[in-house]
Amino acid sequence: MSDFKEKIVLVTGGSRGIGKAIAESLADAGATVIVTYKNAIDESYFNSKNIKHFKCDVADLKSVQEVVDSIVKEFTKIDVLVNNAGITKDGLLMRMSEEDWDVVLDTNLKGVFNMTKAVTRSMMSKRYGKVINITSIVGIMGNAGQANYVASKAGVIGFTKSVAKELASRNININAIAPGFIETEMTGKLSEEVKQNYLNSIPLKKFGTGQDIANAVKFLASDESAYITGQTICVDGGIVMQ
Ligand code: NAP
Repeated sequence: MSDFKEKIVLVTGGSRGIGKAIAESLADAGATVIVTYKNAIDESYFNSKNIKHFKCDVADLKSVQEVVDSIVKEFTKIDVLVNNAGITKDGLLMRMSEEDWDVVLDTNLKGVFNMTKAVTRSMMSKRYGKVINITSIVGIMGNAGQANYVASKAGVIGFTKSVAKELASRNININAIAPGFIETEMTGKLSEEVKQNYLNSIPLKKFGTGQDIANAVKFLASDESAYITGQTICVDGGIVMQ
């Protein structure tokens, strides 16, 4: 696979879970990796891995612009952007508050807009870039109790297709990965009964890991995927078969 040694990679929400696995995998492949987070990070761990880190709320355009500007100033470019930061605030529509709707849409969808707009500006001038958006299979299938989250993730799929058409002529590929059920803190909140129901619906009969998602990200970040853009790849043990 491609050499990542000269590549600068930015992963949002890289402090834990899937983002952390993606960051470590690309750092191990030789890339210079920068992660962002919202609340806290284990600084000594990330320093020991030589992964840079910036506190940045993806929903805050000003903060995003400042962080992206300082990364481009220090590293001269960003080759790969992985829009991974995301949250859930689950509840049935009739009980869903406006706050829970807004914070999920602001983080999961507006955050992707903020980051992609800020980063692709510099990619356009370099005429090279890979953007990988972490959506979810529920953005394709729908899911009761997650109208806010599903709307945000379906929005990311539409955003990916539109921006892929806009930026193709600048040699920028933008694709999405739709994970199924991946064992992280996000899914750790679910009850055993809900987890068992998910497991029963997975053809490969096992949950995924952050590494499964990182493997797909590595492919889309590599030059081996140069002829792929605007796509959503499900990494889900076979739940969604399109
Ligand atoms: P997670 O363990 O809860 O980690 C979420 C990450 O996002 C953390 O690093 C968190 O930072 C960061 N984050 C949250 N809000 C942010 C904000 N406003 N600005 C910047 N960073 C923010 O989640 P995960 O399970 O790894 O999920 C990662 C992505 O995969 C999400 O987009 C999620 O929707 C998607 N996904 C996950 C699954 C699954 O089964 N786990 C399935 C489908 C899709 P802090 O640590 O500072 O809070």
